[in-house]
Amino acid sequence: QSNVAPLIATPAAKTGADYHPAALPAAHIPVAAGDGIGPEIMEATLAILKAADPALTFHPVTVGLKAYEAGLMAGIGEDTWQAIAEHKIILKGPITTPQGGGYKSVNVTLRKTLGLYANLRPCVSYHPYVSALHPRMDVVIVRENEEDTYAGIEHRQSQEVVQCLKLITRPGCERIVRYAFDYARANGRKKVTCMTKDNIMKLTDGLFHKVFDEIAAEYPDIATSHMIIDIGTARMASRPTDFDVVVTPNLYGDILSDVAAEVAGSIGLAGSSNIGRDCAMFEAVHGSAPDIAGQDIANPSGLLLSAVMMLVHLGRAKPASDIHNAWLCALEEGLHTADIYRPGVSREKLGTRAFAEAVIARL
Ligand code: NAD
Repeated sequence: QSNVAPLIATPAAKTGADYHPAALPAAHIPVAAGDGIGPEIMEATLAILKAADPALTFHPVTVGLKAYEAGLMAGIGEDTWQAIAEHKIILKGPITTPQGGGYKSVNVTLRKTLGLYANLRPCVSYHPYVSALHPRMDVVIVRENEEDTYAGIEHRQSQEVVQCLKLITRPGCERIVRYAFDYARANGRKKVTCMTKDNIMKLTDGLFHKVFDEIAAEYPDIATSHMIIDIGTARMASRPTDFDVVVTPNLYGDILSDVAAEVAGSIGLAGSSNIGRDCAMFEAVHGSAPDIAGQDIANPSGLLLSAVMMLVHLGRAKPASDIHNAWLCALEEGLHTADIYRPGVSREKLGTRAFAEAVIARL
């Protein structure tokens, strides 16, 4: 088992003294399968989790289209809120959200209601085993997850004018910037880069940058830099090795992490955690991919790596590293789903289920 990349640890939220994830009973995980490819990648992920950690138990909760069909306008069932309140954790598949109208994003509702302020999105390239736009990439994007234009303050002024407010608060900036530095320290990372557009949005992005500079002074062991988000995103595509940990407001972080995930090989490989004061949610970076749903070709890796982050978060280090290593072995052996399959690099193109079986066989 060569080429074992370091496990991606998520330090506990620094605020909320009562939250000790490693001490939770937490062998029980509420699971929302999600929409589109959600059910098939969740089935694959749960099969691997059960094989690696038989003590875990799961129970399905209602989120997304099923909830809307049941008349729940927030897209989230009461069973889901209760399960999260009890178990302080949820593993979630991607949810379909209509564009330019229709119901509000379930993801935004969950992140805001649960106070999941930190969205961690590691983007790692697995060269030479997986073809990547850049061979040596290992970046963790720490995205603020509750504020900015995603705060949901959007309204119609008149038939011709609509408005969306960009909300940035000092406590929000302090929490996420501190989280980024604590994460860097806890994981042996050397540098934190802040990306904003404070040359234009001088008050909102200006505050984020100012708080970054203030908090950076408390972490003399970590190098820092600031970049304007547009050139920062361009550099993430051309020279990702310039970056280590990146902290950024909500919208920029959402876009930047999709770019980073694609540069690292595929959006289908990227996992993420949403960390809050009282609970945490784990989900893939990608969406519900309706174009490939139901075909058994989706890559379950993004959700699986999110589940590995969840196990680390719960203090279940052994099954986390077992799964991570088995997954790396499958990639190394060229067993690839269609999104990362490249003739000459890959050995065999596997469907979602067969890929999960290959990982289980290497546990
Ligand atoms: P998407 O991430 O679903 O898909 C973009 C492209 O990447 C598609 O071609 C898709 O086939 C491919 N892709 C995504 N995941 C893949 C995987 N695991 N394996 C192989 N290929 C994969 O983005 P989209 O098409 O813009 O959005 C579709 C829906 O998902 C929308 O309703 C959107 O709102 C929603 N969405 C949900 C979340 C979430 O639940 N966290 C995140 C992003 C988008």
